[in-house]
Amino acid sequence: MLIVLKPNVTQEEVDHIVDKIKSLQLQPHVSQGVQRTIITVIGDEDVLREQPLEALAGVESVKAILKPYKLVSRETHPDRTIIKVDNIEIGGKNIVVMAGPCSVEGEKEVVEHALMVKKAGASLFRAGAYKPRTSPYSFQGFGEKGLKFLVRAKKESGLPIVTEVMDPRDVGVVAEHADVLQIGTRNMQNYNLLKEVGKIDRPVLLKRGMSATVNEFLMSAEYILSNGNKKVILCPRGIRTFEDITRNTLDAGVVPIVKDLSHLPIVCDPSHAMGIKDYVPAAGKAFIAAGADGLILEAHPNPEDAHSDGQQTIDFKTLVDLISSLRKLALALDRDIY
Ligand code: PEP
Ligand code: MN
Repeated sequence: MLIVLKPNVTQEEVDHIVDKIKSLQLQPHVSQGVQRTIITVIGDEDVLREQPLEALAGVESVKAILKPYKLVSRETHPDRTIIKVDNIEIGGKNIVVMAGPCSVEGEKEVVEHALMVKKAGASLFRAGAYKPRTSPYSFQGFGEKGLKFLVRAKKESGLPIVTEVMDPRDVGVVAEHADVLQIGTRNMQNYNLLKEVGKIDRPVLLKRGMSATVNEFLMSAEYILSNGNKKVILCPRGIRTFEDITRNTLDAGVVPIVKDLSHLPIVCDPSHAMGIKDYVPAAGKAFIAAGADGLILEAHPNPEDAHSDGQQTIDFKTLVDLISSLRKLALALDRDIY
């Protein structure tokens, strides 16, 4: 930890800060520069992180040297994590495509959609049984009944299921029926939910909060790992900016950064990032070119009839074409695709 002091700091203030650090069983090293005095603190940074150091007279700023997250960090785990879902490896050489409608739309429908996703060449099926909707009057999903439909969809198609869990009380039942539990953007900092999925042995697809920084995103993943579940897939899905043409702003730029900072696999969502179906393929390719290990896409045989997010949902012909270009892109990136 580095504590930068104000230019006009007094000797008494320096002494007081030094005493405070010593009282926490840490070692302060004072460096007196021509213009600035800096105190380097050696010892457990977490102890210091809890202290409101900026409140001390004479302190200008405090800079952490170590990352606040540990388990998700490459500093403690240099090798990349590979997460197995059935026989699919996420985070390895092969790029993975998860696809399906935004929502589970009924039993017959979800089976049909899963079979189409399989035929298009994707390797996991996504569909929400529990839907976080901006309006309380919008379709809210089939809930537990939808989970049963998803089990049928897996039985018929063989594709593993990705579905969202919104409530800590539903984690058990969702984990019983699904292969990957999605935490949506609105819940990235729902710490009770993060703790609950941290206690199960199922992969979690953690979406980036729409206003979350990369550090906050990684700290949320840290919550899950620190509760025992090491199988977390990070999912950038666009963030809110001043731009209002697209639903969100594509955050492909964070992919190489997150890959540097963390060993966890990254599967990105270009559908929610753009919010406009015509731009989803380009955004998906950008995510993969930036180093993502896969994509999660909203796809529907007839997007205009989709129960939710139809405006950003691609049809199956577009999905087939996109997977075919991803295949070529994978080759250029010295990767492969499932
Ligand atoms: C979804 O995947 O349909 C969804 C609601 O995602 P997000 O949480 O990223 O908005
Ligand atoms: Mn959606």
